Amino acid sequence: EVLKQLEKAGAEWVQIDEPCLVLDLPECAQKAYALAYERLGAASNLKILLATYFGDLRENMKLAASLPVDGLHLDLVRAPQQWEDAKKYWPKDRYISFGVVDGRNIWKADLEKALGLMQHAVAWWQPEKVMVAPSCSLLHSPVDLDDEDKLDTEIKNWMAFAKQKLREVSLLASAIAGQKDEAAFTENRKAIAARKTSAKIHNPWVKERLGAVTKEMAKRASPFESRIARQQALLGLPLFPTTTIGSLPQTQEIRQARAKNKSGELPDADYDAFLKQKTAEAVRWQEEVGIDVLVHGEFERNDMVEYFGEQLGGFTFTKNGWVQSYGSRGVKPPVIFGDITRPEPMTIAWSAYAQSLTDKPMKGMLTGPVTILQWSFVRDDQPRSETCRQIALAIRDEVKDLESAGIRVIQIDEPAVREGLPLRKADHKAYLNWAVESFRLSASGVADETQIHTHMCYCDFNNIIDSIAALDADVISIETSRSDMELLDAFKAFKYPNHIGPGVYDIHSPRVPTVDEMADLLEKACKVLKPAQVWVNPDCGLKTRGWEEVRPALIHMVAAARKLREKCAGEATGNGKRAAG
Ligand code: GLN
Ligand code: ZN
Repeated sequence: EVLKQLEKAGAEWVQIDEPCLVLDLPECAQKAYALAYERLGAASNLKILLATYFGDLRENMKLAASLPVDGLHLDLVRAPQQWEDAKKYWPKDRYISFGVVDGRNIWKADLEKALGLMQHAVAWWQPEKVMVAPSCSLLHSPVDLDDEDKLDTEIKNWMAFAKQKLREVSLLASAIAGQKDEAAFTENRKAIAARKTSAKIHNPWVKERLGAVTKEMAKRASPFESRIARQQALLGLPLFPTTTIGSLPQTQEIRQARAKNKSGELPDADYDAFLKQKTAEAVRWQEEVGIDVLVHGEFERNDMVEYFGEQLGGFTFTKNGWVQSYGSRGVKPPVIFGDITRPEPMTIAWSAYAQSLTDKPMKGMLTGPVTILQWSFVRDDQPRSETCRQIALAIRDEVKDLESAGIRVIQIDEPAVREGLPLRKADHKAYLNWAVESFRLSASGVADETQIHTHMCYCDFNNIIDSIAALDADVISIETSRSDMELLDAFKAFKYPNHIGPGVYDIHSPRVPTVDEMADLLEKACKVLKPAQVWVNPDCGLKTRGWEEVRPALIHMVAAARKLREKCAGEATGNGKRAAG
């Protein structure tokens, strides 16, 4: 019906997005494609452009070619080699659209290279049926680089946002039609060459250090059982230890103070004193409530990636580089343009200050290398795995410094691990290997006594559970409460070896859960996990909640943990301290 209406309204072409064609398709889906497109093709006289992106079609190239559509769009940025497959299967007399300008990143296209690909296309298909395009929708790219007046001019010269990308597309189209804008191509060639050799990007010290990384560096000194015994001797935690994920409510008051500090209205010293006061209040409150492993509250952080990016070398920030995250949410990802360094400690002062206020363990709070990578615009001149390992080394230094400052529990958040999974199953393993390796590289520089935590949210663990275990974090906290602990199904078949905190409180909802509700969830968890493994914590950070919800919820959470401890007290053997809780 829509096609008919579009035709009536005078449309000639319609693009139908089918990125599913770059996935592993079951047979029923392949059949559904054939049936659906037979109907769509017959519905009108419109020309249909089938748009694919974010990967290559592989075996689905044949399927695409069998559909009654007039054109096919390929993402030749993510998968440049697939034009060879297209040559085999996509008929010479049909339209083909070459996505040669990266729609998902902020870098200038290498126009000569893209032109080379286009020349292959016009040599094979009918030139009048070859189209040039961005690799995917430009909704993944910020709008206009011209507005960025604060960027370093050298770095800015390597970038292109949506508006600039469209110019690149048009330059390529003209060039392939025989009207090459030599001046524009020369300028582009210069920018590409300058970026390749810029001292801003390439730091020999970082490259040398990366080259010297050994397998041992990604391994803790001892296996988990000996580590946890030592940690336990030092920390003396009860059964079902309670903790939170890191952030505490970022109230209006805190955000206003940050804004005022940024605009210069609130001097640094006053802002600092204000944050210290908030941190001290939070520490005192957690002690009163009876939480076992405390957090400082992350009041000083704007965003869990930006906060670190702002302090690391190799990162820059845009003024208006907003892109859609999901739904109506926007994000302004940092830009990783060069080799990563950590000029100075990033979190030590806050963690040490918070620890100085209490005898209870204060958890150091870091964002992990995979998440920092995943939530940034990443340089495209080296493999992502390499950039990730550079970030891992910077975080490793921070972890060691926290340990030296007397922090005995350190959490390295990795909520984005699963987001990076390649679309095809065949490619999962390679990614998971380097992602796990990067996390371990960041976490393994410490003594056995130092307890490493990690946290993951919105994550379906079932198909990556062995990689999660391979992270070898002493404790992992995960989101489970919304699914009523269903996620723990994964642990029925797979005996997760280390400690784990299945979230018992859904922080996405303002509702305050009752003690019994949380105790029930814990009991459920104890059916698939050993009680001695189980930690008690919310699903995720509490920064989006208000204190009026967080206060009662955490009081209930601590009560739920106590309830479980009492229940288990009779059954516990040996360690009297733990049983008494
Ligand atoms: N430590 C972070 C926080 O508590 C973790 C947030 C996240 O997992 N997305 O806010
Ligand atoms: Zn989370």
